Parts: sequence; structure tokens; C-alpha cells
Amino acid sequence: MSATVDPSAYPLRAFDVEVRRIKDVGPHFRRITFAGGVLDRFGVPGPTRDLRIKLLIPAAGQPQALLGEPDGRLYQGWYQDWLKTEQPERGFIRSYTVAAIRATAQGREIDVDFVIHRVAEGHGAPASEWAAAAAVGTRAVIIGPEASAITTSTRLSETGIRWEPQGAGQVLLAGDETAVPAISSILKTLPADIGGHAFLEVPDPADFRTISTGSAVRVTWLARQPTGSARGALLDSAIRRSVPKSGTSGVPGRDTYAWVAAEAATVQILRRYLVNEVGLDPKRSEFRGYWSQGKAGSGINGTPVGQEPQVRRR
Ligand SMILES: Cc1cc2nc3c(=O)[nH]c(=O)nc-3n(C[C@H](O)[C@H](O)[C@H](O)COP(=O)(O)OP(=O)(O)OC[C@H]3O[C@@H](n4cnc5c(N)ncnc54)[C@H](O)[C@@H]3O)c2cc1C
Repeated sequence: MSATVDPSAYPLRAFDVEVRRIKDVGPHFRRITFAGGVLDRFGVPGPTRDLRIKLLIPAAGQPQALLGEPDGRLYQGWYQDWLKTEQPERGFIRSYTVAAIRATAQGREIDVDFVIHRVAEGHGAPASEWAAAAAVGTRAVIIGPEASAITTSTRLSETGIRWEPQGAGQVLLAGDETAVPAISSILKTLPADIGGHAFLEVPDPADFRTISTGSAVRVTWLARQPTGSARGALLDSAIRRSVPKSGTSGVPGRDTYAWVAAEAATVQILRRYLVNEVGLDPKRSEFRGYWSQGKAGSGINGTPVGQEPQVRRR
């Protein structure tokens, strides 16, 4: 299917891996550690930041599907080809973040922190179900960057990294539980001369975790329980309190880069405030719906939240 394409020019590959460890980290997060010899080929130049990978999930009763060439090489257009496969053979693809990557005596490992979505009545959440049922030794296919296929002309976004602060000295990060792995990884890599504020909204105070950062970014955790706050409401009010509207003093200027990822409706509300009322430059910002309440999947890379009025899907 990829005979006319030079696969060496394509930065992503399918990696055949297995679950090495499982640990619940907080009431709503399950950390799954993937391992496999092929992961020695996985990587990006520099830290992973908000590096996205994709998990290929077989439909119930189906074997684990493979993608691309028998050795896992992919090519421009693999996703469109995958979409042409009928269900149930096709299975599902969902996006996740590399929470950590490390070398061990037994080979490379990747941690992914899965939020287990409550399955709505009659509707599955295949990735959450997969993570809830996974056991040590369960095989999986993940799609991510192949270090040797990344060249100087590869754009960062083609590898799965969206964090591009463009030299900003101040950053504003905001996310719900699905963005905790990305925000944690970003903060770990920021140098001492970067300031700003990170807001993380999670279901429960027991989901709070210590994030190590050498930067001057202040981290604020918000929990919907025990008060039963509506999803996104705490993020919205915390940001309104902390980031003043245009026309008042202390408004973030051109030195600020904003990165926001959460449930799509929350991101739409935050974008509306930060771009329309505060005046942040959308070209120096990343607004991404990581998932959509009540809708299966979130698009191949999440939902880029753009101009009003609607949340675009792709
Ligand atoms: C770049 C990126 C990085 C991400 N990183 C992470 C990460 O590190 N960790 C993490 O946990 N998440 C992450 N996410 C979010 C994750 O991809 C989504 O939460 C994903 O949709 C989960 O898949 P799922 O199969 O469990 O649920 P989905 O099938 O996508 O369903 C989502 C929700 O909608 C409900 N639902 C589904 N279909 C229907 C329907 N027809 N009617 C009513 N309700 C329905 C489900 O019950 C569930 O609550 C990331 C997303 C992106 C884009």
C-alpha cells in the first residue's frame, strides 16, 4: 500500500510493544509502562515536551491490528488508508502523551498516564477500557516518532510535539486531567528564566502530584471534588482571576506563550477569554481539545480550537 512512497522520509512508525508495568497514580490515573526492543528506535531530538503518541486498540474479539509495512514503517496517508478499513477489523486510535521515557538494562520504556473515562451508558470508551483491562504482558501497537527518520527539515509538529513557545519568557499553561502528563513533561524541561503560571484541573485533590520544574512557573492545582464543580469551571475562574483583561494593568504581552488542552468545550471557553478579551496572539498560542465529552475519539490529533463560533473537528 505504500509502494510509491519513500518511507524513510516519514517521521512516524508503528511500534509493537508490550505492557511491562501498571501502577495507579491517583484515583483517576493509571500509569502503563510500555517496553519492547523496537523502542530503541523511538525518539525526538531533545526532551519530549508534550509529545503525542497514538494507541491502536483492537475492537472486542479482534486480533491486534498492524499498520503500514510489516516492520512498522508508516508513510504520508497511512491514517486515510486506516480509515478505509471496515470495522470491526479497524479497531480504534486514540492519542496519548509520553509521560516519561527512560533507558533501562532491559531496554527503553515509555510511561503513559491514562485517565480512565467513565463509560457512558451504552457507549464505550475503547482506550479507557483497554487501559483498565491491560495486564503485564498485554501487547499493544503505538505510533510515534522514529528518531532516525527525523531530519533538519522535519517540523516539530510532524513528530507529535505542539509546544513551541517561540522564545517566550512568560508561559501560561492550562489543562484538565488528560493534559496533566503533557503539562508535567513541559514544566520538567523549562529553564530557570521562564516564568508564568500553570493551572491544572483534576477530578479529586488526591490526583494532585508534585511536578518538578527548574523554571519560575507557578503551579496551581484545582479539584472539582468535593464541591462538585462543573468541568472546566475552576480553570475558567482561576484564569480570569489571574490573567487580567485588556485595558487593565498587568495584561500579558507579546512575551507570553499560552498552551491550553482539555475537554473541547472548556478549551473553547478559555480561548474566547484569552484571545478575545485578554488579547493574546493566537499565533503565539496552542489551544487543543484533547477529548470531547459524549463523543467517541477526539480526531487524530485532538480538536484544534480555532475561531468561533464552532469547535472544528478534523
Ligand atoms: C495530543 C493528545 C494527547 C493526549 N494525552 C492524553 C494522556 O496523556 N492521557 C489521557 O488520559 N488522555 C490523553 N488525551 C485524551 C484522550 O485521547 C481522550 O480522552 C480519548 O478520547 C480517550 O479515549 P476513550 O476511548 O477512552 O474515550 P472516547 O471513546 O474517546 O470517549 C470519550 C468520552 O465520551 C463518551 N462517549 C463516547 N461515545 C459516546 C456517545 N456516542 N454518546 C455519549 N457519550 C459517548 C465516553 O463514555 C467517554 O466518556 C490526549 C489527547 C490528545 C489529542
